Amino acid sequence: MAKIEFKNVGHCYDVSAENKVYALNPFSLTWEDGGRYALLGPSGCGKTTMLNIMSGLITPSDGNVYFDENDITNVITEERNIAQVFQFPVIYNTMTVFDNLAFPLRCRKFDEDKIKTKVHEVAELLNLTEFLNKLTKKLTADQKQLISLGRGLVREDVAAVLMDEPLTVIDPDLKFKLRRKLKEINAKYKTTLIYVTHDQNEAMTFADNIIVMNEGNVVQIGTPKELFEKPKTTFVGYFIGSPAMNIYPCDAVSDDEVSIGGLKLKVNTKLPDSQKSNLKLGIRSEYINVVNKKSENTVEANINLVEDFGNYKLISATNDNIQIKVKVKRESVIPEDKILLEIPPEHCCIYNNEELVE
Ligand code: ADP
Ligand code: MG
Repeated sequence: MAKIEFKNVGHCYDVSAENKVYALNPFSLTWEDGGRYALLGPSGCGKTTMLNIMSGLITPSDGNVYFDENDITNVITEERNIAQVFQFPVIYNTMTVFDNLAFPLRCRKFDEDKIKTKVHEVAELLNLTEFLNKLTKKLTADQKQLISLGRGLVREDVAAVLMDEPLTVIDPDLKFKLRRKLKEINAKYKTTLIYVTHDQNEAMTFADNIIVMNEGNVVQIGTPKELFEKPKTTFVGYFIGSPAMNIYPCDAVSDDEVSIGGLKLKVNTKLPDSQKSNLKLGIRSEYINVVNKKSENTVEANINLVEDFGNYKLISATNDNIQIKVKVKRESVIPEDKILLEIPPEHCCIYNNEELVE
């Protein structure tokens, strides 16, 4: 197990091009030993590139990579002691499930008794025990991916386990169980786990720390709570949470008041003069309250739609041209057409040029 460190690491696939385009813009970051991380962002933002730089499949065009303070930038994959699980199964179809799982251990000359113990332990974890003697080619696509996953987990001595959208081909119910198992494995063996996904739910339920990426940049690193409560950019506000954060262009009225069209709202942010233009206000639908009495930060709105999601209801309402989404408890009584909403100042996030004003 190891601490992984990027120092000014970036990557451009075609360094000879006249206009160099970076798939990953240079950045520095440390992944702590034993941490459980998710790498989250839309397709094409550079997740796989980042993971392949860690495993050594790609040598970065810029910067250096360290495992426990050792510069391994030019060390080949085989010598990095990394287990990598890809989006689609990488297994030997002509071997049995047992032999597939044993393969990474046999390559490293573990003794057969130890191999047997470890293969059975991993097979048990992934519900593969009854298939151990079967040929892999006879199994279904998701069983094959479980074997791939198993091959990534049989070795306890790896620096890190890197997983690139490993559960894509697995059905949702099993996905949920597997994520829980991966968490158990991380707790038991203290393996550094890095899990790539474009699915925020997967990231939020799996990781202690989430690295959010967009267009080749790391935009925020934080716990699920931090990403939810204080998105550092409007992109994170849109990308994390369901529904996306309510975000409105606004103007500064004073140091702690903004207007959205004709609507004036107090906020808890002290706006410096240098950051009073190009503003947006963000508020999570979870933090808006349905109230009976008008007060400073209340808004009258017309209800357009109420959707019942079982564990909560989602109200879509409008005030003039402003669309507001509000999440309420399922048992809440919702008025017929007009509603009074309170926007708590302490939950308003103010963005200047799409970046959070702190
Ligand atoms: P993600 O895994 O987040 O979907 P990738 O790391 O695969 O993103 O890709 C990041 C960017 O780099 C994309 O614009 C993609 O088209 C580009 N890219 C990926 N692989 C290559 C390659 N082998 N050659 C050139 N461009 C690539
Ligand atoms: Mg990818």
